[in-house]
Amino acid sequence: MTAREDQLFEGRTGKWEVVIGLEVHAQVVSKSKLFSGAATEFGAEPNTQVSPVDAGFPGMLPVINQVCVEQAIRTGLGLNAQINMVSVFDRKNYFYADLPNGYQISQFTQPIVGKGTILLDLAHDETREVGITRLHLEQDAGKSLHDQHPTLSFIDLNRAGVALMEIVSEPDMRSAEEAGAYLKKLRSILRYLGTCDGNMEEGSMRCDCNVSVRRVGDPLGTRCEIKNVNSIRFVQQAIEYEARRQIEIIEDGGTIRQETRLYDSGRGITRSMRSKEEAHDYRYFPDPDLLPLVLDPVVVARIKASLPELPDPKRQRFVNAFKLSPYDAGVLVAEQAIADYFEQVATGRDPKLAANWVTGALFGALNRLGLGIEESPISAETLGGLLDLILDNTISSNTAKDVFADMVETGKDAATIVEEKGLRQVTDTGAIEAAIDAVIAAQADKVAEYRSGKDKLFGFFVGQVMKATGGKANPVLLNDLLRQKLAP
Ligand code: ADP
Ligand code: MG
Repeated sequence: MTAREDQLFEGRTGKWEVVIGLEVHAQVVSKSKLFSGAATEFGAEPNTQVSPVDAGFPGMLPVINQVCVEQAIRTGLGLNAQINMVSVFDRKNYFYADLPNGYQISQFTQPIVGKGTILLDLAHDETREVGITRLHLEQDAGKSLHDQHPTLSFIDLNRAGVALMEIVSEPDMRSAEEAGAYLKKLRSILRYLGTCDGNMEEGSMRCDCNVSVRRVGDPLGTRCEIKNVNSIRFVQQAIEYEARRQIEIIEDGGTIRQETRLYDSGRGITRSMRSKEEAHDYRYFPDPDLLPLVLDPVVVARIKASLPELPDPKRQRFVNAFKLSPYDAGVLVAEQAIADYFEQVATGRDPKLAANWVTGALFGALNRLGLGIEESPISAETLGGLLDLILDNTISSNTAKDVFADMVETGKDAATIVEEKGLRQVTDTGAIEAAIDAVIAAQADKVAEYRSGKDKLFGFFVGQVMKATGGKANPVLLNDLLRQKLAP
């Protein structure tokens, strides 16, 4: 995969291409952990969701959680990936205080999901396909808390043993923009599938960014891995910074050392954490407490049959059925609840009008109120009611904006507000003509100016007549009649 010309970095000695591969740790939506029955709820009191298995007590045995396995299969299917009917759990050995067993149960050579693809939605309706290398199941570690006491560190094992899906991409991305698009699309798919809530602030989706640079046409350069970045914006900033850093080193005659780095979002820089560990450092071996995981084809087929319509096909359907631009369709399908809401408003009405109201007024109001679509003060049905009044000419689009604001404020439906406030637009030509005649009589000077060629005054007259009708004249009728009457 090659970069677009506008994605290349300009160095002192020429142009550079940045190459990015992402490893995402996505916490599996499941009530209990991967190998124990302890709960997984976020924000519980420290060490209240820990079973003897999670605490690494001697003699405890892990038991695989079928829900987590099914969620991994579901995710694999959603990523158009190969489902491996046999996979193996391995021990990845390392020492850390928040890892009581001294090893993490993960999958190494035989992951549950193999190669797949994901389609990025880029600017100007461009798309690009990025390869998924694999998805494997593994346990999360606990949390070390170093900021609770001046001299002590604390350990919270609530997270220890929670199921993660590690989703590894091919080194197929060529800019921070593409990395951002990848994470947004992946998060959207995971949420549609209901396999990960995608909440980066709560750490249920974390990203390691692998970044290297090369001159166009050269083989891949040496990568650095930036660990555990917890927002899409930070991922993008880290990539930009890291690419520049590597280019400068190489242009100064240096070489890139493969290492693990951290992104310091306060200072906007990456810094070295440790030299890169190799797989053999972890002494991986199959966990003797667990049999190979053999999937039942019937179960895989059942999960496949239960998949929802995912963002890509939904977007295509919105383009075809509703004649939306790919961009608008993309915005509307990013979240399933928004897509459902839009579809309810659009069906049987003017879809373009529906799209404009959902992405314009509705999103604006939700943003201002800090609400998600699920908590919208205006249901799809009530917004549809407002659109009906525009479409049957009861009110103008302008009046509709005021009615909408009232709906948000009062919770009343559009028809009620229009009746209560007497906002029905005047479509009676006689009434509009009378208003125009009155304005023309009162503004003789301006009429003369207009007739002698000052076209710009037309808007002034529209405003005057609108005012005279209390803003209720049908704007199309008003424009037509006014133009006729003002003609010399
Ligand atoms: P590790 O466990 O050592 O991090 P993985 O194979 O799990 O190795 O992940 C490697 C990640 O690095 C993948 O996302 C891959 O796409 C990416 N990657 C590999 N080579 C490069 C490179 N030269 N530049 C950027 N990213 C790379
Ligand atoms: Mg890695």
